[in-house]
Amino acid sequence: MDQQQSPVYSLSVSGEVSTKSSSTRRNFHRRLRANLREALDRHQLGGRIVDRRDRIDIEKAGPTTPEVVRRVFGIQSVRTAYKVPGQGLDDLVDMGVALYGDRVPQRHFAVRPRRVGKRRPGSPGSTELACALGQALVDCGGQVDLNDPEIRVHVEIRPDAMLLFDNPLPTFGGLPLGTAGRGLALISGGFDSAVAAWRMMLRGMDLDFVLFSLAGWPQERSVREVLEILDGRWMAGSRSRLHVVDFRPVVARMRQQVHGSYWQVLLKRMMMHAADRIAGEIRAEALVTGEVIGQVSSQTLSNLRSITAHTRTPVLRPLAGLNKEEIVAAARRIGTFETCARSAEFCALDGGKPVTSCRPGRLDRQEARVGSELARMLAGERRIIEREVFTPVEPEESVELDHVPDGAAVIDLRREADFLEGSWPGAIHLDFDRAMEFAGNLPADRPYLLVCEFGLKSAFLAERMRRMGYRAWSLGGGAQRPERLLPHSDTSTVRTGAH
Ligand code: ATP
Ligand code: MG
Repeated sequence: MDQQQSPVYSLSVSGEVSTKSSSTRRNFHRRLRANLREALDRHQLGGRIVDRRDRIDIEKAGPTTPEVVRRVFGIQSVRTAYKVPGQGLDDLVDMGVALYGDRVPQRHFAVRPRRVGKRRPGSPGSTELACALGQALVDCGGQVDLNDPEIRVHVEIRPDAMLLFDNPLPTFGGLPLGTAGRGLALISGGFDSAVAAWRMMLRGMDLDFVLFSLAGWPQERSVREVLEILDGRWMAGSRSRLHVVDFRPVVARMRQQVHGSYWQVLLKRMMMHAADRIAGEIRAEALVTGEVIGQVSSQTLSNLRSITAHTRTPVLRPLAGLNKEEIVAAARRIGTFETCARSAEFCALDGGKPVTSCRPGRLDRQEARVGSELARMLAGERRIIEREVFTPVEPEESVELDHVPDGAAVIDLRREADFLEGSWPGAIHLDFDRAMEFAGNLPADRPYLLVCEFGLKSAFLAERMRRMGYRAWSLGGGAQRPERLLPHSDTSTVRTGAH
């Protein structure tokens, strides 16, 4: 549509907001205006926000305003309205023809008039207006079809002005962010936790996020990339922060003290202890996870119950009843799909077949071997990253490389079958668990480049080796890019870790 003048963007507020009591509605509107202001400012769109109770108008704002404000929670629809410069029949017809004249030829259209408020004495009636504009558009080559038109020309007649509207843009509804208290979302970089957090923000919760870091920087970078998207698109008005808890000591202790089949479930229990402490400190009223009943063996109903058996903060699992297709579709809609697909799951804790039905008492006994105090203590030592700096910035001494350093030994940590199919020249194969155990036995006189499927396990091990004094790197992104893999040649398998 040809833009004649700066349009007004007219937003209808979620029905859920309009039906609240008047004081609640006033609070919700105040919050909504503040969130809209922030969204507009972040995109340098300027504009004036005029709250008209049943809707909110934004005047004199930049042309991409509808795209930005449709992602502010609590908005039901966004329409672009062109104000008719004058109050007479001719003014309306002139503007209608200017806006729609070249769109209606050979098409079916309908003029839909609507009066808001009282009729100004002496002003034309709505039917009269619709007929005059309709006739003018027929003269432009359009055909009237009131039942099933391709183009709807909405006219709103207010006491002080007439407006012409474009079709409404779909939005996401929900409640204004910040009106439903604060939660703490456990975020891993995978599809589920990002969608879970989004769903609770849609219900008005403002969220802090917590990452339990198992793989150092590459994992944190993935999570921060996901948060950058959530923040940039959906979190106008939020006061969110990311809490990063280094959970590697928990992993190390579990490896030593606990049978592999409990690792997954116990790790989640430990996360809950730590999250509980953080929630208390930041006054979060609920924890949010991306767990789905029965999606993986650690998420059977009885495991979920055991995981949170001692959690004081209520746990919300907004995806509990969804299936993977629904979650992936939601990830696409909210814009996290690509980033989450790239951010591979870190599963250094592959302890074999996990327990599928672990009663709380049994998990308590396993937990006693590690100690919940450890999780709480690590939570106390967390790093806090403000929302303004979610965007990841590479640390100076990155553990990642994209090439084999001179003279380096390449250690392939992938499954043996993958290794035998093809690896890097001169690479040796080491089982990851073995490598974790025996890394300290490797000769220290040469550098190491570690590679694995996605570059997470290798980063984990490289950081560990660095702490032991080795010069070690991880191949960023791992073996995901097939061009990196060379045909199997001159390779050997080391299974025992004894060199
Ligand atoms: P996701 O797609 O979010 O990774 P998932 O289906 O892979 O979820 P799990 O890995 O079992 O499931 O994790 C279940 C939930 O536990 C996640 O949705 C997330 O809320 C939380 N979680 C898992 N790992 C972490 C982590 N390292 N840091 C913070 N939260 C985590
Ligand atoms: Mg996960």
